[in-house]
Amino acid sequence: MHLFRRNTRDELEQQQHDHHRLTPFPGYLSIFPIPQDPQDQGSHHDRLSDDTLPDHRLVSRSTPRPRLGARFWGVRGTHPAALPTGTRFGGNTTCLEIRYGRHIIIIDAGSGIIALGDELSREMRDWPTTSERPTVSLLFTHAHHDHLCGMPFFAPIYQPETRLHLLGPDLAGMRFEEIVAGYMRSPYFPVDFRELPSERRLTSIGDGTRLVWMAEANGPVVWDEAVTPPPDSLVVDVLHSRLHPREGTLVYRISAGGQTMVFATDIEIVEIEEQGGEAEQRYLRFIHGVDVLVHDAQYSEDDYAGVETAPTRGFGHSTPVMAARVARKASVGRLILFHHDPGYADADIFALEQAARQVFPATVAAREGGEIFLDAPLARQI
Ligand SMILES: [Zn+2]
Ligand SMILES: [Zn+2]
Repeated sequence: MHLFRRNTRDELEQQQHDHHRLTPFPGYLSIFPIPQDPQDQGSHHDRLSDDTLPDHRLVSRSTPRPRLGARFWGVRGTHPAALPTGTRFGGNTTCLEIRYGRHIIIIDAGSGIIALGDELSREMRDWPTTSERPTVSLLFTHAHHDHLCGMPFFAPIYQPETRLHLLGPDLAGMRFEEIVAGYMRSPYFPVDFRELPSERRLTSIGDGTRLVWMAEANGPVVWDEAVTPPPDSLVVDVLHSRLHPREGTLVYRISAGGQTMVFATDIEIVEIEEQGGEAEQRYLRFIHGVDVLVHDAQYSEDDYAGVETAPTRGFGHSTPVMAARVARKASVGRLILFHHDPGYADADIFALEQAARQVFPATVAAREGGEIFLDAPLARQI
């Protein structure tokens, strides 16, 4: 089984070009399965189906050196999409899995977390019962439904052997714990969050929080920024962005093993060419020079401007071209477009990906099942 589609020679040459031009240091370029052009769907269909099968490659317990890797379990925004034409980008909402050493971080509990939970439940049966077992932490960007709707169906929370760290923002005058518990209670759901059999530890985090997972630790600790974390740690820095309506969102910068990626969903950043305001400036400083930027890119330029329907400007989401301008301005290594509109068919997303590449060539659109390894040498893609 090929986990990743093999790249064509042209793609490899382009990536090699991008690699030499954009890589801040050798060895960063990740593996990322790029969906085929819609004209060419038939010949690769089976192989792409293979790509989306669950796989344990992100589990690095068996490898001597930890690797920073991520897998997309949900890439849509607003609500899950069940397109009559089907979709090769996937229809589930936000969920990203990150692994480094024995630590697993999940960002957001959109509908994508349901399949991840099933996969984790299977995997957990083989985990040791000692302190060496992997740790699982669930981080939230904010509490909109598309980022929470999968949580009641996340199988590990129903298992007494699960130890789960949940971390997220206080919002709208509510503590993080109230927000999460309030989402799973009667009359909205038959099971009460506070009565689940799993062991759960909830922590409020916010702007400026630094979380550190030390190699042997059993979970994250809130870290004093004045102290340098041990070199084999997984580090997550938090920015509270005000570039999303009302409460804003948390943006996460994940660093480990010399590589860094940023996860920035639900963010609208318009005035980037004119430097923008203070919120834009803070965001740009936060993401500057990272190897991989995952950025909101929900709307086409036409929908954003309201050419055929009401404009979506001000909804708290970017266009792919806006995301590409951000990537260029912040000198990131690679851009992954995220939070696709649930109404967009594959051809729409391919077109948006192409538009973004005109501004920032090292761009791909995220798709469900796609994985990245931040330390992978270019040869691993062949
Ligand atoms: Zn969203
Ligand atoms: Zn939102």
